[in-house]
Amino acid sequence: MRVPKLELGNQVFCWRPSSSLGRDAENSIRSVRRCHGGCAIITPNHRKPTGYFKQGTFMAANSQSLQELPVTTLKGVGPRIAERLAGLGIESVQDILFHLPLRYQDRTRVYPLGAVRPGEHVVIEASVDHAQIRFGRRRSLLVQVSDSTGTLVLRFFYFSNAQKESFRNGVRLRCFGEIRNGPASYEIVHPEYSLLKEDQEIEVDDTLTPVYPSTEGLQQRTWLELTKQALALLENGALLTELLPPSLDLLLSQPLAGALQLLHRPPPDISLEDLLEGAHPAQQRLVFEELLAHQLSLLQMRRQQRRHPAPAIDAQAPLADQLLNNLPFCLTAAQQRVLDEITSDMTLPHPMQRLVQGDVGSGKTVVAALAALQAISSGYQTVIMAPTELLAEQHLNSLQQWLQPLGVALVSLSGSHKGKARAQRLEQISSGEARLIIGTHALFQSGVQFHSLGLVVIDEQHRFGVHQRLALRQKGEADGLLPHQLIMTATPIPRTLAMTAYADLDLSVIDELPPGRIPVTTVVLSDNRRDEVIERVRDACQQGRQAYWVCTLIEESDALQAQAAEDTAQQLQQQLSQLKIALVHGRMNATQKETAMSSFKAGETNLLVATTVIEVGVDVPNASLMIIENPERLGLAQLHQLRGRVGRGSEQSHCVLLYHPPLGQQSRQRLAVMRDSSDGFKIAQKDLEIRGPGEVLGTRQTGELQFRIADVVRDQELLARVQHAATEVHTKHPQAVAPLIQRWIGHKVQYRGV
Ligand code: ADP
Ligand code: MG
Repeated sequence: MRVPKLELGNQVFCWRPSSSLGRDAENSIRSVRRCHGGCAIITPNHRKPTGYFKQGTFMAANSQSLQELPVTTLKGVGPRIAERLAGLGIESVQDILFHLPLRYQDRTRVYPLGAVRPGEHVVIEASVDHAQIRFGRRRSLLVQVSDSTGTLVLRFFYFSNAQKESFRNGVRLRCFGEIRNGPASYEIVHPEYSLLKEDQEIEVDDTLTPVYPSTEGLQQRTWLELTKQALALLENGALLTELLPPSLDLLLSQPLAGALQLLHRPPPDISLEDLLEGAHPAQQRLVFEELLAHQLSLLQMRRQQRRHPAPAIDAQAPLADQLLNNLPFCLTAAQQRVLDEITSDMTLPHPMQRLVQGDVGSGKTVVAALAALQAISSGYQTVIMAPTELLAEQHLNSLQQWLQPLGVALVSLSGSHKGKARAQRLEQISSGEARLIIGTHALFQSGVQFHSLGLVVIDEQHRFGVHQRLALRQKGEADGLLPHQLIMTATPIPRTLAMTAYADLDLSVIDELPPGRIPVTTVVLSDNRRDEVIERVRDACQQGRQAYWVCTLIEESDALQAQAAEDTAQQLQQQLSQLKIALVHGRMNATQKETAMSSFKAGETNLLVATTVIEVGVDVPNASLMIIENPERLGLAQLHQLRGRVGRGSEQSHCVLLYHPPLGQQSRQRLAVMRDSSDGFKIAQKDLEIRGPGEVLGTRQTGELQFRIADVVRDQELLARVQHAATEVHTKHPQAVAPLIQRWIGHKVQYRGV
């Protein structure tokens, strides 16, 4: 431990108690008076030295970096609080400063009662007119107060007799709380309040009051106290390292310390609206730094991953060429471009990590098949992983058609393969006889041994987070080689979001549909026109077309969803007795699902009643009508996916969004987006704006996207610059990378061991 030379006026922390220093001297700030042999330490409250500092360890604050200063040096942080703070990842005083407020309360001015509005949180000062207990459904104490501009009621559900007695007529009080509409006048329920003595004046706060994100056992009072001390240290010159590169001069004109000071204690004249919108330069300064740290951590992860060896795949792939020759169509330019990107990745001896985005129906499967054949031509196995058994089966069917003529052996493996069937498949996989393996997530959980895995294709699994992607790849490791990874998604991720959520991946976009596709016409109808819609289904089916009827439920329960689909199928069968109706839902076993799907695919059934299990991957070109019940319950991206099941053939397709009235404003808006657009990217962007990144990316992913101050939607304009800065920091200021990540992300990132 370094012992700095102490000078008069320095502030010191003692890190260890010294026998001659009183117990209370531990962890507190002292000023130094004299030095002779040891140091005389004087507490702020005493005029005489409370002890002499001889052997203990101490440091002068102004030579001390806040990052190295444990949070336990702050007053009031004992073992219990320290443990709770540690639970939030807060260990140093710097961490306290970067624990930023969620929102603010304005206690900097007293509002006249005549000027308050419902929903506002305000400070008022008024005198009691009368207080009475009201016995209604719930006993409550009502205190009517007034000032010269109006009256208002304070309502208490919990109160003591003494409390009631204290509200004597004419007593003045100061309150803070939210104004609500009451039965007779505005009210504040359970305000914070204090009674004022006659002629007592109390000051209003001179800054806005921050409200911190917290956890059980840590009260706002504690946060206020801790941030106050941390800010004082900062003001006294403790070190907070500037980590942004000097080229970002515009941002740096907002010094870091000033920005933190402002956000923890905003001055009263600041615009709350600006703060809420994140528009204040101090916020932008910190938002930028946070996004940068996030970007750097992903970049770092990506670079570290790339150092691993992977099988180099030969760009010459006779099997892929054969498939191309056999296909009844030519690749679109976009498919070809993406395939080239994949090929050039796989020829490198480092694992590819590529995300292919392509709208529903853009032809991702064939691209995956060609990539698989490249790996297979070079003597490696490929795994294709699908999110559902239904989709795995579909893939098996279409890939079998393509690959069997080439003599490539396929095997599928899912949770429903048991006993002998399973053992046999496992054997084919481990012996290397199976070249292409298709299955669900279970593939990687069940101790499957691969012979020589070269490529993992993950279909429709954009919801996997970074760590899951890594874990999956690790499981495919063989002989020290990591397989290449190709992730395919039809859920278009708005560019800005992709840059944040997928900075560890390379991105390819199939931005073109195969020729001849006709956009699906969508109508939005109330379900009181259900009978008309059923007639429409009858007409379409009688003309030889096929239709989907999708039942949605908010409940996650498979059982309830299955029940709803069964009921609907039964009821539709009654009304449409001449039609053949099949049913698929998540509760059916693989064979049952497969039977229903293949009869529909073969045109033997007219109508397929389904839950959202058909959301991804199902491909039946003759189906040209889709009814979605209660579409207001689904996200736009999911609706777009579902709708993508039609419009795959040469016929004009239709989609009916059959909502249950009344529709809220937001739902109306969202369904209108579906009606007016068939562009997945546009739809996803709207979804992002209306519902936020959680809905677009899924909750797992957003766990990694939890920011302290940034908001990927609100701050999307910054992202391009952030990306640029990340590259610059990485190349020109590599020493800043670790501290930036530590400062903003800290323990949440586990890349160190990767
Ligand atoms: P998705 O991108 O949604 O996974 P698929 O791979 O299922 O789309 O392809 C949808 C349909 O388009 C399939 O029937 C597929 O055979 C066909 N297809 C793919 N590429 C082309 C192409 N270049 N030209 C014509 N049809 C194609
Ligand atoms: Mg697909």
